[in-house]
Parts: sequence; C-alpha cells; structure tokens
Amino acid sequence: MDAFVYNAHAARVVFGAGSLQHLEREIGLLGAQRALVLSTPGQRKLAERVAALLGAKAAGIFDGAVMHVPIEAARQARDEARRLEADCAVAIGGGSTVGLGKAIALESGLPILAIPTTYAGSEMTPIYGITEGGLKKTGKDARVLPRTVIYDPDLSTGLPVGLSVTSAMNAMAHAAEGLYAQDSNPIMSLMAEEGLAAMSRALPGIVRRSGDIEARSQALYGAWLCGTVLGNVGMALHHKLCHTLGGSFNLPHAECHTIVLPHAMAYNAPAAPEAMARIARAIGTQDAAAGLYDLARDNGAPVALRDLGMPEADLDRAADIAVSNPYWNPRPIERTAIRALLQNAWAGVCPVTNVSRNP
Ligand code: NAD
Repeated sequence: MDAFVYNAHAARVVFGAGSLQHLEREIGLLGAQRALVLSTPGQRKLAERVAALLGAKAAGIFDGAVMHVPIEAARQARDEARRLEADCAVAIGGGSTVGLGKAIALESGLPILAIPTTYAGSEMTPIYGITEGGLKKTGKDARVLPRTVIYDPDLSTGLPVGLSVTSAMNAMAHAAEGLYAQDSNPIMSLMAEEGLAAMSRALPGIVRRSGDIEARSQALYGAWLCGTVLGNVGMALHHKLCHTLGGSFNLPHAECHTIVLPHAMAYNAPAAPEAMARIARAIGTQDAAAGLYDLARDNGAPVALRDLGMPEADLDRAADIAVSNPYWNPRPIERTAIRALLQNAWAGVCPVTNVSRNP
C-alpha cells in the first residue's frame, strides 16, 4: 500500500428531499442572525423563498451571481454584505453562486451556508476563482469552504435535463481524475468510485423523468462525493484541457468537461490502469473511456467540441496552450498526442477501439 496524507475538511452536510426546511436551524447552529442570500438573476425566486423561510434572519438578497465570478460582482456583493451587516451568506444555486459566496468569505471570513442546485461540487472545495480583466485567478483558502451544505434534491428537479447530464459528467470528471491523483489516498478513492457509481445510476432516471426524486437524490449524493474528491486531491490533464477550452475559447464549462473526459481518460489509460479499472467497475462497463463516452451519448449530451461551435482551426492553438505549464499528470504530456486527443474530441469519435462495446 502506498503511503499517503489525508486531510479532512470540516463541513456539515444535511442531506435529503425537503431538507431546505432545516435552514433556519442550520443558520442558528452557525451562530448567525443576519444572512445575505445569494443567487443568479435567474434563480431570484428561489432566493426569495429562502429569505421567506429565514424571516427575520434574512438580511437581504443579492441576485448578481455570474459565471466565473467577475471581480465587479464580487465587490458589489461584499459591499452589500457590509451595508446590511450580514453575519453569514447563504448561496443557493450552482458553482457560480457558490463561487460568489466564496469571494465574500475570502475577504470577510463570513461563514457560508451553501445550497447547491447543480452537481458542479464547488460547495465541497476550498478552491475559489475570481475573474479580473478577462483573466480568472484561482486559489485555495480554508476560509472559503462552506461551513454547512444543505443538499435538497427537491431543488434540482428544475435543472434542465441537458444541463443535469453535463453537470453530472462535470462531477464525474473530478472523481475520475481523483483516482489517479499524485496525492490520492484510499478514502478519496472510495468516495470517487462511489460518486461515479451514483452518477451513472442517476442519469438514466433523470433523463426518463426530470422530477424523479430518487434519481435526483443519487445525483446529488454523487455530486457531494465527487466535489469532496475535487477539494482534497489534485487534478490533472483533463482539468487543464477544460480550463484551456473554457478560459481561452469561451466554451461552456459543463459541456466541455462532458466531451473531453473520455478522451483524457483514454490518454491516461496506459499510465493509470488501476484507476481505469475502478472507473469501469463504477459505471458498469468494460472500458473506462468508452464507457464514459457512451454514458454521455446515451443520455443525450454533446460528444463533439465542434457541436459547441469550436472552429477546427483553433485546435492547434488549444494544444499549444494545453501543453504549456501543464499540471502533474500520470502520463507525460506530449504535444502530438494532445493535438490528436483534441482532434478526436472535436470530431466526437469514441476514443477507445480496442475493447468490445455496445453499438
Ligand atoms: P452555474 O452555477 O453557472 O449555473 C448555470 C445556470 O443554471 C445558471 O444560470 C443558474 O442560475 C442555473 N441553475 C442552477 N441550478 C438550477 C436549477 N436547479 N434549476 C434551474 N436553473 C438552475 O453552473 P455550474 O456548472 O454549477 O457552475 C460552474 C461554475 O462553477 C464555473 O465557473 C466553475 O469554474 C465553477 N466551479 C468551481 C469549483 C470550485 O471548486 N471552485 C468547482 C466546480 C465548478
């Protein structure tokens, strides 16, 4: 057995359909009295519901959360928290809203209670990102980790099916890379494998019926596990590729993860056979890369970068950026092979051909 270091991050998790009802109790347990409720403009109604549930413990609502946390939104939200003398923030929404909460916590140390409505997993990580002048700066700080997370599957039934599938694949990418992380440990690997299994169980049910609470519960459970893995161990080639495609080519976050994941797994498969076996076992397939491709395709997700509108002519530049300042990766980063990987992801071909798979 390999030696390892395991660092537990303390967060309280309240899980279950209807668990939003415990919000006021949870705010009390944080020792807080005045919560600033955060959301995107599109989820304002949900933020109002949260504020109504909190009654006198709601200091106000800030509905200016935006993808990638622009510094201007972070400044406005921080000013609003100060003006309202908020002593905690409740972030209800996806990674963008949780990210805004983190930007407030980073500066003020205010405790954050997160109520995720997607599967991105940001609520379980001490990682923050703020975009200034078109550049996204990321960092790690224990202060930004939400202190309490309420996972209520009832709140994700409205997440459109397409976004649900890509958001779940985004979560699975954290778990898949966690299985071969340089700083992996047995506990995170257990969580990663269970997270992958929960997501692959959940997806067909969600696609069949968006309001299937059992499937939504499985997916949110998977999001918790996969997000925890992201918060605890380092990510590699797959995340570097997605940061390149999202950051420099403005491709949408969850779709990008969905398309690139099978190809990144195929690239790393020769160097990480045990991780591949665990991924394959978790999702019930012969081959990790092909299985992930099939899971996305069979549940209606995009499988080709060209379908996101990426011009083929950008692939060379994407390969150049992806191989510069690479993250640690189990297989050495080779420009020619990365360019080929991107070509396959652009065209949407299944990355693995040496095993039998379902047509
Ligand atoms: P998002 O938060 O941007 O949400 C996408 C859209 O869906 C938003 O308009 C949102 O209002 C809407 N939405 C969310 N939940 C909904 C629901 N249940 N019903 C209907 N609409 C809903 O997307 P995301 O994929 O959750 O998060 C992506 C962002 O999070 C990226 O900026 C990414 O970098 C960041 N992220 C950060 C971490 C971290 O650890 N720091 C981890 C994962 C993602």
